[in-house]
Amino acid sequence: MKITVLGAAGDVTGSGYLVETTSARVLIDFGLFQGEEKNDALNKAEPPFDASKLDAVILTHAHLDHSGRLPLLTKHGYEGPIYATAPTRELTGILFKDAANIQAEENNPLFTLVEAAKTYLQFKDLEFWEAKSIAPGVHVRLRDSGHIIGSASVEMAVEEDGRVKRVVFSGDIGPKGAPILRDPSPPSRADLVILESTYGDVDHPGQQETFESFAKVLTQAQAEGHRVLVPAFAVGRAQTLLYHIAQLYASGELNDLPVYLDSPMAAAATELYASHPELFDAETRELFKAGKRPLDFPKLRTVMSGEESRALNAEKGPMVVIAGSGMCNAGRIVSHLRQHLDKEETQVLFTGFQAHGTLGRDISDGRSPVQVKGQPVEVKARRHMLRGFSAHAGQRDLIAWAREASEDRPRFALTHGEDEPRRALKGRLESELGVDVGLPSRGDVLEV
Ligand code: ZN
Repeated sequence: MKITVLGAAGDVTGSGYLVETTSARVLIDFGLFQGEEKNDALNKAEPPFDASKLDAVILTHAHLDHSGRLPLLTKHGYEGPIYATAPTRELTGILFKDAANIQAEENNPLFTLVEAAKTYLQFKDLEFWEAKSIAPGVHVRLRDSGHIIGSASVEMAVEEDGRVKRVVFSGDIGPKGAPILRDPSPPSRADLVILESTYGDVDHPGQQETFESFAKVLTQAQAEGHRVLVPAFAVGRAQTLLYHIAQLYASGELNDLPVYLDSPMAAAATELYASHPELFDAETRELFKAGKRPLDFPKLRTVMSGEESRALNAEKGPMVVIAGSGMCNAGRIVSHLRQHLDKEETQVLFTGFQAHGTLGRDISDGRSPVQVKGQPVEVKARRHMLRGFSAHAGQRDLIAWAREASEDRPRFALTHGEDEPRRALKGRLESELGVDVGLPSRGDVLEV
């Protein structure tokens, strides 16, 4: 069989793999290239294969860098199934709708809402662990990857010329011991493992110490009347933060700190998380069984309209505002920052990576003034950077996952990582596991 790497090779976006055997063609993920302007051309290019001849598509998880080009398949004649877990399907529906609405403002949108809806109808639910024959000689099984709700690794067994070959696509892997979701479940058998390497070169700070720093900022805000602005990704990060705040309410450390979830998408994603307790880890399931709502607490308010969001500016007293986007380059968080960055009682709490060239990076780097919507704004707010809430496994967890997947001494191919982290991970895997590790480029073909 041949596997063509379609994206996320030497970077972290545009994930996609085309699997071709003597009797079948299957696609794993078809995500957007994000971040730079030149990626627009990559996204709008015709798929480098005949979409109408695919037998099946599998989606590892809902994030747009894995799902965002699926509507292009439909546009290019693909009418077959897109297999994914039910929560991945539901979440992808939410993200497609949002993406189509944003694109509706552009001259030449990648896809329309109607096109995205057509693609959505092609989804077919696949449960974790359910063995499924998806194309002639191609059998798959999804395992939990612990990254966001519904996220999966794909185990694929391909029968060809009387032999069976096994390939594993890790998808995005979450950190061990993170709240809400189960830990990732690595496969044991494979001939080839395609492994993500986003944080292949570093370990995240401990989750407990991150939680303690988070608690300190919030309890202080409650005592001193601070406004805490928290830029956060709507899917995954927002729910992790709500979980931790609910814990602080349950323990009594917080009792009078209003928290505004100022993002309809984060609200929808939170509802979706709450509707899948069967996918929670044991601890969160216990809470749920005891009648507690792990993502809810008395002072949580969801802010839907833009008008309600603007009204928060005039409100006094301590509060937390959680809003997108996670790197402050768009979304409602930008307006909050514009209004409050120049005040000393404002706290800006970063809970994730801030890429170069984003407003979030400028603020977290300590610049002042910063440009917000074309206007200079002086930064008097206090900044906090918490790095331990990542939805991706750090180096140690990636190596542990790879070790479990190495029973058959498979080859590894590292994708979904910039070159520095994936080179670092290659070095560690080769020396510690004695396996061969490749670093494919976009368009490379892996033969199995
Ligand atoms: Zn992801």
